[in-house]
Amino acid sequence: MDKQRLELGFSRLMEQPGSDPATVQLLSSWLADSSILDRLRINPYSVAESTQFAVQPLVNAFLLGTQVDLFDLSWEVHCPRCNMLSDWFDSVAHARAQSSCPMCEYSFGVDLSDRMEVTFSLNRAIENLGFPPVCLPPAVLRPVGNLACPNGQTVRTIEQIGPGQYRYYCPLTLSKGVLEVAGEPCDELQSVKLTQLAGKEIVPKLTTVRPGRIEFVLHNIGHPFSGLWVHSNVLSADLPLSSLKRRLTGLEVLHNPIYQRLFGKQVLSARERLQISSVTVVFTDITGSTRMYEEIGDPLAYNLVRDHFEIIQRVFESHGGRLVKTIGDAVMASFLSNRDALRAVDEAHRQLDDYNQHVPAAHQIRLRFGMHRGPAILVNLNGQMDYFGRTVNRAARVQSVARSDELSVSEEVYEDPDFQAECRSSAWSDFRQSVEDLKGISGRHRVYTAQRQSKIPKGIGST
Ligand SMILES: [Zn+2]
Repeated sequence: MDKQRLELGFSRLMEQPGSDPATVQLLSSWLADSSILDRLRINPYSVAESTQFAVQPLVNAFLLGTQVDLFDLSWEVHCPRCNMLSDWFDSVAHARAQSSCPMCEYSFGVDLSDRMEVTFSLNRAIENLGFPPVCLPPAVLRPVGNLACPNGQTVRTIEQIGPGQYRYYCPLTLSKGVLEVAGEPCDELQSVKLTQLAGKEIVPKLTTVRPGRIEFVLHNIGHPFSGLWVHSNVLSADLPLSSLKRRLTGLEVLHNPIYQRLFGKQVLSARERLQISSVTVVFTDITGSTRMYEEIGDPLAYNLVRDHFEIIQRVFESHGGRLVKTIGDAVMASFLSNRDALRAVDEAHRQLDDYNQHVPAAHQIRLRFGMHRGPAILVNLNGQMDYFGRTVNRAARVQSVARSDELSVSEEVYEDPDFQAECRSSAWSDFRQSVEDLKGISGRHRVYTAQRQSKIPKGIGST
């Protein structure tokens, strides 16, 4: 490790706008005590856990650190079945809709919120570990044994193994073989001799033994370093996220304001799309804007609308929201959770209410809000990261039910216990239910609408 460059990186990170000295100091101490494995793919949630520090300032520090050659950022795709890395790249611009796991020989659609992780490592000029990113098998796969072997050496381990089909593989070299354990239990020690060759080859590729004590012998003659993990080869279901270590998801990173400022220009290539299993979409709209334009004229109305966009953007971002786009007077934004979205809507309404108290009635801006949560597809639309799909349409239609100072939410949002808990402590507690035809969407839909009391009387802008 180049300690001089490391120190220089940290002192430059301290000077970055938005940098928090206490977090930088903590990160510097954590790195000084870290192992190579800790530093290979740094998960900010793991750092937060081991240091008892909040994760958000750590993520911010890592992101800012990429600007001063202290950290590198890596996007990584996990196989849903074995959690191995099937793909990695340094920019979301290189993400692809499909990926394939070399261990499971399983092809899957890449989900930005479930299976894509963002990790950090020290900038290569400071420390180049010479390894590709490696993800060890999670505990949920119940590995029955593992070995680590430097080049030219032989290592061994003895494990008790029951009947079944297992894979033995190296997450570093991506070599794999299959172990069949079948037949009558065997009292004698059986030996499985494996050799790691250059490339992705481990030989033999298929070994059959009887249940009992098995000695694995790994001889590495092909790689600077090879490891061996043994776990079940039959993985037919996706691993539940709750069984995996919490990680910084691609969707979380896209919602980070510092990421948006530093990397906002990185977009998917025009033909690619990424699934998102669940995201909250919020629409806001100015009510009575046509009358406002008539009354005060386009130039002034335009300035007021812009002022209001700035308030919305600032407030939404401070609650983890991502302003996707503006459409006329309307704003489309996304949030990681319904609770964050409600907090943002509440604060935006409060700030606009304050704003309205200090301007003439004709200059007042009143909003209505709509919210829906569901799966979406992330795409590149005209050079911007945008969402596509039914969730977006539903959110827009749900919003059309609301009037001035009102928030309408879909049944999916309303029934979220976290949303309900947040409502109880907010000004949006008195929801009325209605059953609506939503334009362009078949069937009739329950919509829940609440009003937040405004400090100013209804005037222009009310509908
Ligand atoms: Zn896999």
